[in-house]
Amino acid sequence: MATAENTEAESYVAEVQERLTTPGERECLACYVQRMLGEFGCDNTLRWALRWRDLRAPRATALHRSLEDRGGFCDCEVALNVYPDYMTLDAAGPLPECVGVARRGSTWPCRAPRRT
Ligand SMILES: [Zn+2]
Ligand SMILES: [Zn+2]
Repeated sequence: MATAENTEAESYVAEVQERLTTPGERECLACYVQRMLGEFGCDNTLRWALRWRDLRAPRATALHRSLEDRGGFCDCEVALNVYPDYMTLDAAGPLPECVGVARRGSTWPCRAPRRT
């Protein structure tokens, strides 16, 4: 039974979810996907990567393909295969703060890979 109160509560939840899943003004793709995986997990699609793309780099139409080329067929594979240096899911510490993309619309991650 849907009461007015229920509907209000539901739209509040949707609003909070909307806010929680909006990438930061300068948050990079790698940090965003990592953060969303920690909060909401992977649904076997690129929903977080594509949400980031739609909101932050709408002109990066080839992003989908380039992620798949690098083995990222869903969000957790993006984290594992495309941005392994950003993988902190198994680490005990908190997620490092995103340093921010160099320029708006850039799909490059904020930090250079930590490989030596
Ligand atoms: Zn996945
Ligand atoms: Zn970042």
